[in-house]
Amino acid sequence: VAPVPTVSLSHRFADELPELALPWRAAEAPEPALLVLNEPLAAELGLDPAALRTDAGVRLLLGLELPEGATPVAQAYAGHQFGGYSPRLGDGRALLLGELRDRGGRLVDWHLKGSGRTPFSRGGDGFAAVGPMLREHVVSEAMHALGIPTTRSLAVVATGRGVRRETVLPGAVLDRVASSHLRVGSFQYARATDDPALLRRLADHAIARHHPGATSAEQPYRALFEAVVDAQADLVARWMLVGFVHGVMNTDNMTISGETIDYGPCAFMEAHDPATVYSSIDETGRYAYGQQPAIAQWDLARLAEALLPLLHDDQEQAVALAVESLGRFAPRYTAAWTDGVRAKLGLAGREDVDDATLTALATDLLAWMQSGRVDHTSCFRHLARAARGDAEPLRGLVLDLEAVDAWLDRWRALSPDADAMDRVNPVYVPRNHLVEEALAAATAGDLDPLARLLAAVTAPYDERPGLEAYAAPAPADFGDYRTFC
Ligand code: AMP
Ligand code: MG
Ligand code: MG
Repeated sequence: VAPVPTVSLSHRFADELPELALPWRAAEAPEPALLVLNEPLAAELGLDPAALRTDAGVRLLLGLELPEGATPVAQAYAGHQFGGYSPRLGDGRALLLGELRDRGGRLVDWHLKGSGRTPFSRGGDGFAAVGPMLREHVVSEAMHALGIPTTRSLAVVATGRGVRRETVLPGAVLDRVASSHLRVGSFQYARATDDPALLRRLADHAIARHHPGATSAEQPYRALFEAVVDAQADLVARWMLVGFVHGVMNTDNMTISGETIDYGPCAFMEAHDPATVYSSIDETGRYAYGQQPAIAQWDLARLAEALLPLLHDDQEQAVALAVESLGRFAPRYTAAWTDGVRAKLGLAGREDVDDATLTALATDLLAWMQSGRVDHTSCFRHLARAARGDAEPLRGLVLDLEAVDAWLDRWRALSPDADAMDRVNPVYVPRNHLVEEALAAATAGDLDPLARLLAAVTAPYDERPGLEAYAAPAPADFGDYRTFC
């Protein structure tokens, strides 16, 4: 038997928070096959890609051969799912293998998804299908390339096991890396145990890993809460700017670190419309594109409730402090979004264009984008060409030319910086029809479309000849897109 590739895994979460960590093992895989390995990420983690491709390496990626001393655990958490509280969710098909230090000295979680049943599985089978795990791989790596905080995907390994869904699908395990898997739901779970010492230990662990500045604050737990509010406000602003719809912003899918997590029924919006919903289970549009900032704030209110015992001995005072701190969300979000849209319009750092002028310009832009059902990504990218004097590609996207021409005159009078725009407005995002095509091909055994899609979306700002198909929205006959988790 070849030796397990060299890696040292710590078990700090399991040691410090045993109440939230159930030691558990991954299920055997009948016929493992590595589908995709993220070599640059492996290198960042100090892992040898060649070693990961060996049989022993693949067994490590499946959590079946572990370095000595590793203690894989299923993590406990609770969560509000579509507004309804579930006291016990947890890793029903996932495991935390442990933590490792990356090349930069940063401690990160190594986590498996699709690794089999655990005590948190409830009615589920604990497994995952190739398609959804590859979707998480593509979309999370695209988000990373766009500069948006996210969990990363190290690898997807097919298990050779059939997974029963509507039909029997090939099974897979995703290897995910994150600065941690602490969620709002982790705090809800700890709070519900009525053990203030556990809640405090969890908060201390979160501060140490994510927001160490909070330690020296006058009120460290309040500073932790505010750091999460700020990180989430910044994150959701980035989603909105790029047209990302998470699809299932339950409190168990919101991180304490501010990284995007749990790519299920997610998608990139094409026609700009706040009402955009892709998830087949989101019948009321709770998690529609335009709802995301409000929902983030709702989720953060649930975090505040969980933290109340740590905020003040007097719970009335604790509520007042929490409300005040949550009040940071709206201005923080607006500032992040305004800065972002300023850059997208080529007006970054322009003191002569005040925020009111900028906001009016952006509001009018979004209004004609929405009424004309204009493709979000192409529109921003084509604006730079319009700034250079060629408005035709942009005009080709719209019907109400009069409104657009008037808007262009107003904007171009401000002399936007087209080159700077090309560095923040992507050409390539994971287009829904191309994602579906790549996942279907991969499920049938052809990995080439996936490789080509990954190559496009992991260098999203560099326009390359031959990749035109990756820059265009879905053809009309693709119809209304629906995602399933
Ligand atoms: P998600 O919708 O992926 O965020 O998952 C919500 C909850 O359902 C988590 O507790 C998951 O671990 C659990 N879960 C999702 N799919 C499965 C599955 N196939 N088997 C067991 N648990 C699952
Ligand atoms: Mg969930
Ligand atoms: Mg989840």
